[in-house]
Amino acid sequence: MKIICIGRNYTEHIKELENEKPTDPVIFLKPDTAILINKQPFFIPDFSNDVHYEVEILVKINKVGKHIDKKFAHKYYNEIGLGIDFTARDLQNKLKEKGLPWEKAKAFDGAAVIGNWMPVSEIKEVNNINFSLHKNDELVQTGNTSHMLWKIDELIEYISKYFTLKIGDIIFTGTPAGVGKVFANDKLKGFIENTQIFSITVK
Ligand code: ZN
Repeated sequence: MKIICIGRNYTEHIKELENEKPTDPVIFLKPDTAILINKQPFFIPDFSNDVHYEVEILVKINKVGKHIDKKFAHKYYNEIGLGIDFTARDLQNKLKEKGLPWEKAKAFDGAAVIGNWMPVSEIKEVNNINFSLHKNDELVQTGNTSHMLWKIDELIEYISKYFTLKIGDIIFTGTPAGVGKVFANDKLKGFIENTQIFSITVK
């Protein structure tokens, strides 16, 4: 399986990092070794002094597809999740400056938190999902999928022009504003609406 991540998909987050608004979705990949399952501890890697949390809605692909039209994209997933795209921001900024790929800053072991999955049938409207991240029981990030620059079905259309989507592939759909640094002993809890989807301790 592969993990396909979308960058810069919420206007307020683009502003906070002083990035340009993209004309096409920004895409990068994480390997399966980056996966951190709900309730496992996250270890801050020794090559970074500034690891940030980014809470994101996840989509799990359940059918093989290539060149998927957005009209049919909803047939290619039946579970929605929530996760964290951990980012070594200091390293990412260095790589960005040099025009180098981001993988070392985004695709390291443990950098893809994957929480529990919810069937799409339990979600009223895929383009109107409220989600949030609490750090040590303080609300640090809130988002709603209606604020995505590219909605889930549009992302599937765009991604599948470049990559064949396979059963079990996971899409990280981008983070809203409010990203920030993690410290040892932080507890991160993610919610879709009022349902807790993951709980991670930082070590
Ligand atoms: Zn992200």
